[in-house]
Amino acid sequence: MVVDDGRQSSSVLPTPSLSPSLSSSLSLSAPNKNVIINHLYLPPVSYSQWEEISVMDERNTPMRTYQVCNVMEANQNNWLRTRHISREEAQRVHIEIKFTLRDCNSLPGVPGTCKETFNMYYYESNNANLWFIKESQYIKIDTIAADESFTQVDVGDRVMKLNTEVRTINNLSKKGFYLAFQDLGACIALVSVRVFYKKCPLTVLNLAQFPDTITGGETALVEVHGVCVNASEEFEPPKMYCSADGGWLVPIGRCVCKPGFEENKDMCQPCRPGTYKASATDAYCTKCPPHSSSPQEQATECICEKGFYRAENDPRSTACTRPPSAPENPISTVNETCVTLEWAPPRDTGGRGDIIYNLNCTKCSGDGKKCTKCGSNVHFVPRNFGLSSTTVLVTDLEPDSNYSFTVESENGVSALSPTPKGKVVINVTTSQTGENMCTVVLKERRSKDSVTLAWQGPERPNGVIVEYEVIYYEKNQREQNYTVLKTRSNMMTVEGLKPGTTYVFRVRARTDGGYGSYGGEIELETSHEVTTVCLELFIVQHCGYIKAKQDPDEEKMQFQHGRVKLPGSRTYIHPHTYEDPNQAVRDFAKEIDASNIRIERVIGAGEFGEVCSGRLRMQGKREIYVAIKSLKAGYSDKQRRDFLSEASIMGQFDHANIIRLEGVVTRCKPVMIITEFMENGSLDTFLKKHDGQFTVIQLVGMLRGIASGMKYLSDMSYVHRDLAARNILVNSNLVCKVSDFGLSRVLEDDPEAAYTTRGGKIPIRWTAPEAIAYRKFTSASDVWSYGIVMWEVISYGERPYWEMSNQDVIKAIDEGYRLPAPMDCPVVLHQLMLDCWEKGRSDRPKFAQIVTILDKLIRNPASLRELANSSVWSDPSTPEFSVSTVDEWLDAIKMGHYKENFSSAGYVSLDSILYISVRCRLAGFSA
Ligand code: AMP
Repeated sequence: MVVDDGRQSSSVLPTPSLSPSLSSSLSLSAPNKNVIINHLYLPPVSYSQWEEISVMDERNTPMRTYQVCNVMEANQNNWLRTRHISREEAQRVHIEIKFTLRDCNSLPGVPGTCKETFNMYYYESNNANLWFIKESQYIKIDTIAADESFTQVDVGDRVMKLNTEVRTINNLSKKGFYLAFQDLGACIALVSVRVFYKKCPLTVLNLAQFPDTITGGETALVEVHGVCVNASEEFEPPKMYCSADGGWLVPIGRCVCKPGFEENKDMCQPCRPGTYKASATDAYCTKCPPHSSSPQEQATECICEKGFYRAENDPRSTACTRPPSAPENPISTVNETCVTLEWAPPRDTGGRGDIIYNLNCTKCSGDGKKCTKCGSNVHFVPRNFGLSSTTVLVTDLEPDSNYSFTVESENGVSALSPTPKGKVVINVTTSQTGENMCTVVLKERRSKDSVTLAWQGPERPNGVIVEYEVIYYEKNQREQNYTVLKTRSNMMTVEGLKPGTTYVFRVRARTDGGYGSYGGEIELETSHEVTTVCLELFIVQHCGYIKAKQDPDEEKMQFQHGRVKLPGSRTYIHPHTYEDPNQAVRDFAKEIDASNIRIERVIGAGEFGEVCSGRLRMQGKREIYVAIKSLKAGYSDKQRRDFLSEASIMGQFDHANIIRLEGVVTRCKPVMIITEFMENGSLDTFLKKHDGQFTVIQLVGMLRGIASGMKYLSDMSYVHRDLAARNILVNSNLVCKVSDFGLSRVLEDDPEAAYTTRGGKIPIRWTAPEAIAYRKFTSASDVWSYGIVMWEVISYGERPYWEMSNQDVIKAIDEGYRLPAPMDCPVVLHQLMLDCWEKGRSDRPKFAQIVTILDKLIRNPASLRELANSSVWSDPSTPEFSVSTVDEWLDAIKMGHYKENFSSAGYVSLDSILYISVRCRLAGFSA
């Protein structure tokens, strides 16, 4: 290593002690998802002062560097260019350069033209053999400065610090590009240049394989469709997004193992013998049910053992079964021409619960040799086929006759079995009968649930009438359900009937000689429900519905009007509750004389016309900057009302984090709304413009302000519905204020609003799922939106869910996906976001709790130390311990020498620190 004495600066060049040679630095040991495009050699260009120098490092390993050190002469312009570098398929390429740079101060006697930076350029081309590229054709990548420019002392100690810088080129489209380095008079040794791009590595998730995917250009996510692994099928089309930094995001959909296969470590493996899986949606193979087996692997069902069966509708998970044995212990009780038959269920049910019994009736000759089928005059109660009970009443038999009844048992698999059904035979002889038949139903009285019947007793009873039996059932339902009632009187009110239903009634008498035959059937229909009550109910409900649809806020307000409010707290009054909307404007907004306003320039476009900035001078007050929204010419009455409704709403609020209404101009044209002026405009644009420029404490301070404004609104029962960074305004002190209170804003104004399936227009990415699904907008849905605003703030205005479609966002949220922590986001903040995105709205924190949490974080910055996407805390400006004064805080961040500047600038409390403006930061306070 050469020791630099600084005198011969053009020939004494820095020799990096740690650097490997250029070629070996391009080894393949990079992280596996980074793909190195090309080895680089840097052919010196003839007119350039760059030199290729081989030197030895500390371990005497030869290494090549490209060096230039013309610091003694002014007007340097030395170019060094690479050969053509193929971009392969990448659109976004990263360049990592390692270099050392001499500190001009360490070179005695160098003129003021000595530089400590150099420039890096690229030129895209399909031609791989360009020998000359004009300077003006290059596109500048960046000016590169050293973090660790070395000095003499460093060299003397042989502690050489190598700078490593990485830059990115986006949206490449040609075959490749050339890189170039421009030196304008610095002392540089370029040690290595590594060009690489990033890939999302091949991965298997939810049984879908996602291929190695090259990341997209700029910030775009690449949508990738997964392919189901072997023996699996799509349950819902699987897809994921490959993010710009090579990570996979937002898995949606999944594959499932086909029938006969089960999931095991991202694969589908066949079910083992003795197990089966019938449906793709079943998770695992299960053991064969009783009396079945699966001798082969991959079984989708198990086969029944011999003599066992599975009915068509039996699930494949149930045991195989067989037909039942015969019914047992038959008993008959004869009552003249009626007989009650009873039996016990079969001993072997075959393993099923669906036993039914069928009854066959034959009438036999006296010797029992000749039997014929009973005629249709014989009645069975409840019926003769498909009986589930073990008893049946047979009526209307002929007196003094022989009958033979066969009771057969069967179940759901009897039809599949070749063996005959189990049966039992019951022989019966009927006796002589009297004539105690009751016939005519005399009168009926009907209500909606009861029927009153009266009948005449038998004309010639065969004894004293003991009681009457009334049997009834719903028409056409006799098989399922019948009821028997008894009475001594010849009149009965049957209650508990269904309204508007036809019932069949039959009556018979019992004398001490037994039961007589049933009289004829009579059908009666109960009356219908009384409808007036329902109608009233309907009307009430209908009104309620209309109201809710008109304005869900109103419904909520009315509820809250009835609530006990804290003393001193006010409730927001919806302008629609005024019959005359102009009265609302008069009540809540001050009329300003147009001559007091001076419009200066256009700063934005609103829904109703331009937004301008200007000044307002009111009598006896100092002139202030204001924003002026005007209503464009040719408006309708409704547009004027809607435009001014924003003023009637805003005018009811008075809070440091809510945009303040100064007044309105309604007596002359154009109609105007005047609000305080917010120098830094809307928060989303502001953050994008100042990407990475704030400390985490400053970001938390902004969020605290927004939460405090929202707490105020929710305390007043106002639901914002469109809370998003684009609707927050920022003033010169970094104070954030909630804005955008127009009535039609969510429907018309917001370019993010999209139509939902229910017809409303909603900013999907910011809106809670229950508000999207059924328009349930509450302060809890505002809390969800607040979580999204937190994410926007910490990611410096990144678009929530990037380029995903609204439909994909809805689906992903429903499947439980939530936005990951933005880069450098403290764990506690991401946790708070996740809490705001709880599915159950009552599980989300209230705005008051959010304010308290953020206050605690601000007072104890150490709690922000742990980052969500890294275990190492990398923000050196956040002290590790709690502070309570500005001085303590400055000491903690090693800026004690600024104490005086801070106190003279009025930053005396910790809260005020949060609002230190960008200008202060850029001026070097680095707060
Ligand atoms: P708006 O119609 O309220 O969405 O306003 C349209 C745009 O005008 C906003 O995005 C801001 O950029 C700007 N703007 C509105 N009000 C103000 C204000 N009070 N101070 C500064 N800029 C404003």
